[in-house]
Amino acid sequence: MKYDLVVVGGGPAGLAAAIEARKNGVERIVLIERDRELGGILQQCIHNGFGLHVFGEQLTGPEYAERFINELNNLKIEYLTNTMVLEINDKKEVYILNQELGFRRIEAKAIILSMGCRERTRGAIGIPGFRPAGIFTAGTAQRFINIEGYMVGKKVVILGSGDIGLIMARRLTLEGAKVLAVVELMPYSTGLTRNIVQCLHDYNIPLFFEHTVIDIKGKNRVEGVTIAKVDNNRVPIRGTEVFYECDTLLLSVGLIPENELSRNAGIEIDARTSGPFVNESMETSIEGIFACGNVVHVHDLVDFVTQEAQRAGRGAARYIKGEAIDNGVVIRTVNGNGIRYIVPQKLRLENLNDEINLFMRVDNIYNNCRLDVKLDGKIIKSFKKRKVTPGEMETVKLKKSDLSTYNDCSLSIEVVKE
Ligand SMILES: Cc1cc2nc3c(=O)[nH]c(=O)nc-3n(C[C@H](O)[C@H](O)[C@H](O)COP(=O)(O)OP(=O)(O)OC[C@H]3O[C@@H](n4cnc5c(N)ncnc54)[C@H](O)[C@@H]3O)c2cc1C
Repeated sequence: MKYDLVVVGGGPAGLAAAIEARKNGVERIVLIERDRELGGILQQCIHNGFGLHVFGEQLTGPEYAERFINELNNLKIEYLTNTMVLEINDKKEVYILNQELGFRRIEAKAIILSMGCRERTRGAIGIPGFRPAGIFTAGTAQRFINIEGYMVGKKVVILGSGDIGLIMARRLTLEGAKVLAVVELMPYSTGLTRNIVQCLHDYNIPLFFEHTVIDIKGKNRVEGVTIAKVDNNRVPIRGTEVFYECDTLLLSVGLIPENELSRNAGIEIDARTSGPFVNESMETSIEGIFACGNVVHVHDLVDFVTQEAQRAGRGAARYIKGEAIDNGVVIRTVNGNGIRYIVPQKLRLENLNDEINLFMRVDNIYNNCRLDVKLDGKIIKSFKKRKVTPGEMETVKLKKSDLSTYNDCSLSIEVVKE
């Protein structure tokens, strides 16, 4: 099988990337999704809050996905569902498997990776105790309740205050369960402020910062969990233990970009994001292989996933048409004080359209601060912020003209307290 472009993963990133590539003149595109339907994680997110930036509307996850699936169909872009991508390589060969076609090799001119991310599990955080039924990741519980129609428990403790855990606290309450507590290791939430207010405060669900689960009771089914306060080194403090009788423990302890395919292909991975290093066009370290969405870094808003995927779609189209410029001015992005990561990590100036959005996360909560953007040590832009937190992705928009007087150099961003 031969295609100009293969898109791996049919979530919002893959959908937007395929659509944008077609709008930029790419003919033979195939999008491959392992699930039975397109839409990715959005299909199980039946709450609203999607699309405020892209459509200026409050949509549910399935509604947001539907708009892109309809456009994909209108543009007659081919796709395969129930199809697993097993391997890709640096020659841009894609190996797939499904029940109708069996095992197939596809030759592509370009590939866009949009496999999303997966949740950290109990094993990843090492909670001691037996392994009874009743311990779920928050996303798995969401899939059971919203798609499969099963209730996961009646009395629930949630570990981690990431967005999925917060949303599930509200969802379980609305379905009749009692959420006893949300327990967070850090002194701040890793979720959006709006989700803390709308999902916990509105339902009087207590949130304990600097606490963790230290034991799970029960052999066949969870019977309860013990939580304790932690010290500055995140070590549980003796004497602070509290036992909660419950039948369910939900884990919302972080997402990891799904990069097994990328790693096997030899794509360089940034240890800070756990996703590939990318340039302004979302191209990875292997020419002609692009990446976008949660496989690059974990996003909190789907709108930013869409914007990033459109950039990947345009980049892939430019590459396929032989219009990408690879030997011009290169600017590397550098994490200054207070910045945990910046995406993209490299900007090739000639390939920029008029402006570029840089996505980043800070390493702590800072009130009344500035984000200073420096080129060759000189401040070129400064953005005042009332509050920045690790749970909310920050964006900085720069114009090509802001950068164009510089030759190969580094661009740093740092948090400065006012
Ligand atoms: C519970 C939850 C609540 C959220 N709430 C909000 C919200 O209120 N507002 C908001 O704006 N955003 C929200 N988000 C964020 C947003 O939904 C995600 O950022 C977005 O879905 C990521 O898109 P993606 O395409 O990168 O990944 P995904 O949606 O995860 O899609 C990746 C797709 O790739 C497929 N795939 C992976 N590997 C392979 C393979 N080898 N072969 C074939 N297919 C493969 C997967 O099956 C999946 O369909 C939420 C996310 C979650 C998880």
